[in-house]
Amino acid sequence: VTRIVIDVERCTGHGRCYDLTPELFEADDRGHGRVIAGVTDIDERKARAAAQACPEQAIRIDP
Ligand code: SF4
Repeated sequence: VTRIVIDVERCTGHGRCYDLTPELFEADDRGHGRVIAGVTDIDERKARAAAQACPEQAIRIDP
């Protein structure tokens, strides 16, 4: 896994990504998820779990 992207059009801000995986995601000022800048060592298992937990399928993982 080299990159995680949140589709801002889909994200509605449930916060499950940053509740579940605060080492990869954080909340912006509206409570929408965003990938923490500068994260390099991405744990694939955690990234996939967060993507599956997102009710909007807003999290995309690039290999
Ligand atoms: S879990 Fe999905 S919809 Fe919720 S904040 Fe994260 S990316 Fe957005």
